Amino acid sequence: PFLLPLRNFSIIAHIDHGKSTLADRCLTGTIQKKQAGKNEQVLDKLKVERERGITGKSNHSMIHEFNGKDYLLNLIDTPGHVDFAWEVSRSLAACQGALLLVDASQGVQAQSISVFHNAKERGLKIIPILNKIDLPAAQPEQIAAQMQATFGIDPSDILRISAKTGQGTQEVLEAIISRIPSPSGRIRAPLKTFLFDSFYDRYRGVISLISVQEGVLRKGDKISSCHTRKKYEITELGILHPEEVPTQSLNPGQVGYIACNMKQSSEAHIGDTLYRTGEPVEPMEGFQETKAMVFAGVFPVDSSDFPKLEESINRLTLTDRSVTIQRESSSALGQGCRLGFLGTLHMDVFRQRLEDEYDANIIITAPTVPYKVVYHDREVIISNPTDFPEVTDATARVKEIQEPVVQASIIVPEEYFGDLMELCYSHRAEDLDHRYLDSGAVSSRIMLNCILPLSEIVTDFFDQLKSRSSGFASFDYEDAGYRKSDLAKMSFLLNGKPVDALALIIHRSAQETVGRQWVKKLHKVIPRQLYEVPIQAAIGKKVIARETLKAMRADVTAGLYGGHYERKMKHLENQKEGKRKMKKMGTIDLPQEAFFDILSNK
Ligand code: GDP
Ligand code: MG
Repeated sequence: PFLLPLRNFSIIAHIDHGKSTLADRCLTGTIQKKQAGKNEQVLDKLKVERERGITGKSNHSMIHEFNGKDYLLNLIDTPGHVDFAWEVSRSLAACQGALLLVDASQGVQAQSISVFHNAKERGLKIIPILNKIDLPAAQPEQIAAQMQATFGIDPSDILRISAKTGQGTQEVLEAIISRIPSPSGRIRAPLKTFLFDSFYDRYRGVISLISVQEGVLRKGDKISSCHTRKKYEITELGILHPEEVPTQSLNPGQVGYIACNMKQSSEAHIGDTLYRTGEPVEPMEGFQETKAMVFAGVFPVDSSDFPKLEESINRLTLTDRSVTIQRESSSALGQGCRLGFLGTLHMDVFRQRLEDEYDANIIITAPTVPYKVVYHDREVIISNPTDFPEVTDATARVKEIQEPVVQASIIVPEEYFGDLMELCYSHRAEDLDHRYLDSGAVSSRIMLNCILPLSEIVTDFFDQLKSRSSGFASFDYEDAGYRKSDLAKMSFLLNGKPVDALALIIHRSAQETVGRQWVKKLHKVIPRQLYEVPIQAAIGKKVIARETLKAMRADVTAGLYGGHYERKMKHLENQKEGKRKMKKMGTIDLPQEAFFDILSNK
């Protein structure tokens, strides 16, 4: 039954434009016809991701009848957030077409443009769709004109649908069949298979999602990886329909899953090409190591819990391999892990999953990006402020410091443009330019492009963008390499001793503001001691800000940690042993919760 004519496609859209709803609509529609009904959102698997509106990785097949003939449609799911841009492009590598979904009430947004270009560059057939036409605020005519102006799309090619009510979705399935070409690929050719995703199954080990480019893949086949040259044997293969359906073979163009005695998920390299052992082929383009852009240290609140924390982290990374892990030890916080993420949203999602999995509070240090220190004879990438040179002048043989930057695009209604320019400049934007996207009857929208330091968008940029534009601005960015920058390491000293876990790398233009802000925060959180304690922020030997914590007179520590933060308390209640561990911070003994307060409370 699975030798039907094929169509491989993705749905690409700005977040919230209806990708999951349309996917569900297509799937449930066809499943109800062919199988038992199933109504929950099959695509959004993981709880947190559902909460955040991010769709997890998956791929599903459905059978659809068109002109009396059955077709097998493979929907290859792409993640819906800018943090995962690279995952989007590798999913597209397995498709011949893409549905470009645009919300008819919102219009073209920043990610609509980036995903469009991504799909276009890969030569995919694009089916433009206006979604949510059931909304009273929908403006299908204006938005269609906008799509024509922005993408050069003929308005008569645009489908108008409501994924929610189902209006027009039948036409979507038909367009997939009539407009997207079937995959090409010779049956009689050396086997060439593209690995685009993988997950871990408790019972069968690593399951990889693959697309067969040429040749036929059969159960029992011996295969090798272009990347590692390791050999495997296919123990099971099949398609996702949407549950796994084992088959005997997969033909060129087919997308499916394989199990092949891979023991560790780290063996399944996303973007890898697999070939028949003994018949090597040219690897497909698209292999890229995961590139962590944001790093943070994670420590247990109670340091004796480290083994449990590490176990939880390892368990979670089985299903999310884009997180990188390194052990890290801090004199203040003890043993912990330094984790690397694709972006801040990715970090938030992981953090929440970790707190659920580990069932206790964690201390997570301020996020940092990978900086480049250029010495006279070498370059070093530094992802932990502790490793950053104290002084960066000639005595340290440092030629220059560079930081990662991104090419940002922001789409915003005209009336917010001035505010957003200001926001960009206050985040050290360079090379700023803009152009009008359209001049509709309601209001014109402007696309603003600039170079922004990555470190500036990992903190509060998103939130400010949303609040300054009343939620109307959309944002997208892509890696734009490194640029020279005037950065320094800021240390915090208690009683003259630096506290490693608190060190920050900052731009010198912000040193006073940041120094003062953190010193105040520390002053508020650290309990008084028997003697006076100076709290200082310093760069090299130079003190930038200072507060003095007065000596304790009576017992003021009692009640300091009572119920400030609901979230903390919830987790503390969960902990059976309520004993308070003291930690040395500089020369001062502090409850570890103090760190939690300092680092979690911006
Ligand atoms: P995704 O982020 O692109 O996956 O978007 P979702 O499918 O999660 O949809 C975002 C929101 O838009 C949800 O609240 C949906 O119920 C809603 N939505 C999706 N399609 C339609 C539609 O055709 N009409 C209306 N009125 N709402 C829709
Ligand atoms: Mg979704």
